[in-house]
Amino acid sequence: MAGDSVGFRAPRGTTDVLPPESSLRDALVRSALDSFGRAGYEPVETPAFEHTELFQRGVGEASEVVSKQMYTWADGGGRSLTLRPEGTAPVVRAVLEHGLERGPLPVKLSYAESMWRRERPQKGRYRQFFQVGIEAIGSGRPELDAEVIEIGTRFLAAAGVAPGLSLNSIGHDSESCRRGYLALLKKFLEEIAGSLAPDDRARVATNPLRTFDSKEPQTSAALAAAPLITDHLCDDCRAHFVSVQRLLTDLSVDFTLEPRLVRGLDYYTRTAFEWFAGGLGSQNAVGGGGRYDGLSEALGGPSLPGIGFALGLDRIIMARAEPAEEPPGRVAVYLVALGDDARREALMLATALRVAGVGADLDFAARSMKGQMKDAARSGARWAVILGSEELRAREATVRDLRSGEQQRVPFAELTARLAA
Ligand code: AMP
Repeated sequence: MAGDSVGFRAPRGTTDVLPPESSLRDALVRSALDSFGRAGYEPVETPAFEHTELFQRGVGEASEVVSKQMYTWADGGGRSLTLRPEGTAPVVRAVLEHGLERGPLPVKLSYAESMWRRERPQKGRYRQFFQVGIEAIGSGRPELDAEVIEIGTRFLAAAGVAPGLSLNSIGHDSESCRRGYLALLKKFLEEIAGSLAPDDRARVATNPLRTFDSKEPQTSAALAAAPLITDHLCDDCRAHFVSVQRLLTDLSVDFTLEPRLVRGLDYYTRTAFEWFAGGLGSQNAVGGGGRYDGLSEALGGPSLPGIGFALGLDRIIMARAEPAEEPPGRVAVYLVALGDDARREALMLATALRVAGVGADLDFAARSMKGQMKDAARSGARWAVILGSEELRAREATVRDLRSGEQQRVPFAELTARLAA
């Protein structure tokens, strides 16, 4: 097996992204940030690690991400640090720390970053994974929910994934809304506790909503008669949800109402959504998001409603309908050089081409002419520029069009201008 002689392997649950997939990922990330940018979302970068408390307070200690999946270590001086398991709490922390909420609202930000969660690795589930996402902070308007969901749906379609969109509202934290509902749900769950899968019984007390996330058929069956949040929303949350649905319909975004959709992170309020794609097995969510109207306050900030989503890039690539088209080669010209003098000339010509904006590469293994022509074809270049002793004497290169096979002589001095055209 390749690599058997190598002593080191990447840690479990991590992946190396190698060419050509690395270029494809790069192109996808850029097109995501471009399309988010066209709606006013500007990139933000936050540190790979944060104070552990940010996630405990922001995401919630009862959530699985915080209670089981964080990479946390003591950094001396009594500080506990954690590798970012999700992007929203850090972005809201950065907004508050830098007072961005004092500018025009909503603050619209995008990110493309790795996240870390200690989950059991399987197809589509890694311990380091990559998300692209947006956050819109400082407006509770339903138009913003519709904008955010439309942007994610359109990007996924452009990326070649045609996912289903599940939509729900989980209300807000008050007696007349979610708290009242949770009391009903808890009562129901306690009554049927005997029929739940053993692992899910423990959630009844700590995080009853999450029993809906169970993959245990026994639990799903027992929950068939459970009260649903959408039947217990307060008037404001219900009106908000109706507006979001109407706006999405106006925007031609298809969705399915899914009253059992709850999100894994505790900060969500009102709108919650997830995109699911076929062909991914059990890890079929390509992205998700929702409103987090209470998050800023949970972090000690002012009332600042917000909404966002995160898309899993690893799964988007797996879910693409067409096998990924090879990204166009970055190298347009491959210089084929025979002999030391020609190699020196090739290096100079390659540099001049790169300076002029033309991708160029050359042989560094002193291969035969035939070997270098093979490398030229493999590089994806359009042109092979051949430099032999005769060409050097005449200070002209033989330029071969690798598509048509046609070739012609071009003086060195004109090469850059001709190939840049
Ligand atoms: P979440 O906020 O947990 O719903 O994550 C949003 C998206 O990130 C998911 O829909 C997945 O596409 C992706 N994702 C989450 N966790 C993982 C993981 N462990 N490995 C790969 N992708 C993940």
